[in-house]
Amino acid sequence: MPDTIFDKILRREIPARVAYEDEHVLAFHDVNPQAPVHVLFIPKTPIATLNDVQPGQAELVGRLVLAAAAFAKREGFAEAGYRTVFNCNQDGGQSVYHIHLHLLAGRRMAWPPG
Ligand code: C5P
Repeated sequence: MPDTIFDKILRREIPARVAYEDEHVLAFHDVNPQAPVHVLFIPKTPIATLNDVQPGQAELVGRLVLAAAAFAKREGFAEAGYRTVFNCNQDGGQSVYHIHLHLLAGRRMAWPPG
């Protein structure tokens, strides 16, 4: 899989404002936030798109979800609510081909999204 900008963030070759990290997951604030809180949760193992997730990686994807929910609780906006999104491929609006769970919070979200 080709290197992405997120691999460079994982290797600390380019800076990011880290929000959470454990053995499997890194989370950092999006450089172009679409809400008052906009954090990306990525696996340390590179997976290009949701289409490429293998059955054996279900736990890893679950870790992204659990890390996002724990972050929401810790930061105090879990009850007010928030949105999580995986964009997939061109029509899904994906621009970085290393899966990432967007967490957006701090404002009322519209539906449907654009
Ligand atoms: O879902 P999508 O692939 O479009 O999301 C990629 C996200 O990565 C964008 O929201 C973009 O602002 C963010 N990004 C970042 N830091 C970078 C490059 C991209 O937070 N250095």
